[in-house]
Amino acid sequence: MFDLSKIVRQNIQQLKPYSSARDEFEGTADVYLDANENSFGSVLKAYHRYPDPLQRNLKKQIAELKRVPAEKIFLGNGSDECIDLLYRCFCNPGKDNVIISQPTYGMYEVSANINDIAVKNIPLTAEFALDEAAITKAIDTATKIIWCCSPNNPTGNNLDATVMERLARGFDGLLVVDEAYADFSSAGSFTSRLEQLPNVVVLQTFSKAWGLAGLRLGMAFASPEIIAVFNKVKPPYNINEATQLKVAKALQHAGEVQKMIDRLVKGRAWLQEQLQLQEGILQVFPSAANFLLVRCESSRELYHYLLKAGVVVRDRSSALHCEGCLRITIGTDAENTLLVNTIQSFYKL
Ligand SMILES: *Cc1c(COP(=O)(O)O)cnc(C)c1O
Repeated sequence: MFDLSKIVRQNIQQLKPYSSARDEFEGTADVYLDANENSFGSVLKAYHRYPDPLQRNLKKQIAELKRVPAEKIFLGNGSDECIDLLYRCFCNPGKDNVIISQPTYGMYEVSANINDIAVKNIPLTAEFALDEAAITKAIDTATKIIWCCSPNNPTGNNLDATVMERLARGFDGLLVVDEAYADFSSAGSFTSRLEQLPNVVVLQTFSKAWGLAGLRLGMAFASPEIIAVFNKVKPPYNINEATQLKVAKALQHAGEVQKMIDRLVKGRAWLQEQLQLQEGILQVFPSAANFLLVRCESSRELYHYLLKAGVVVRDRSSALHCEGCLRITIGTDAENTLLVNTIQSFYKL
């Protein structure tokens, strides 16, 4: 049976969190002399006040969009902050371990290394599926997190939700489902299962489908108790005012975002088809994300040829099961055409 109090680090349970000026006075007043801001304002005519530490306005809007109550939402300076916080709240340096399944997003391992947490790699199968039996076997008393990325980066496929749910139910640590690419997938979000699965944390981001990578806003969805632990540990003003305002504005244009997503999904189908017809392209893996993993003949030479033509893709050939593979983000129609034409001219050489 999952018991949150058993997996929060001792020092975090005992932590008396920093209390900011904005925490201690929440009402409105005529004169604010409580936070040592510049009372004359700023040359930008904005931003001279510290932002809301708990981003209440923004969370209200996100709650509506995602159909998750605000008390189950945490906002991070990118999902990358959420990833780091998961380690700092739940994993004891030098003692605990986490499970990841390569090939997957690199930050799970980098962040583990930064926090001195051991990583057990239980690779995805050759079909890029979770190895449920091996993961179950690898869990020990010091295992705190199982990382699942769905759709997975760099392979593009969804992981099996039934398997993830079974893993969560049989585990007294946290199962994290990173859904950075969920907006491009027709598989439903794991947020709908939070009620039944108290040890699941779902990550999403404004960096991909929403096109706001530069603003740095990531979301974690989990039980109010887990969210409370994140709030205790995060830097007081982790989401700056510009980001809070701009993302709130963007959220009023969800329909336009959906149109871009639809075009990218169409572009993905077109690119998939074109590449499959191209000689020299050995395999185009099915993708539920805004990129394709493509196995190519002479992948390194192709990579450099594309670079010379001004097209940058990601060389993933050193990742497990990804020999000879490039990861290609879906572009605009014109970019996709240029890419296909350049690949075609490379293989004609
Ligand atoms: C891009 C990506 C992220 C990064 O999210 P940020 O919100 O930009 O920090 C997280 N997870 C995966 C799997 C990604 O590919």
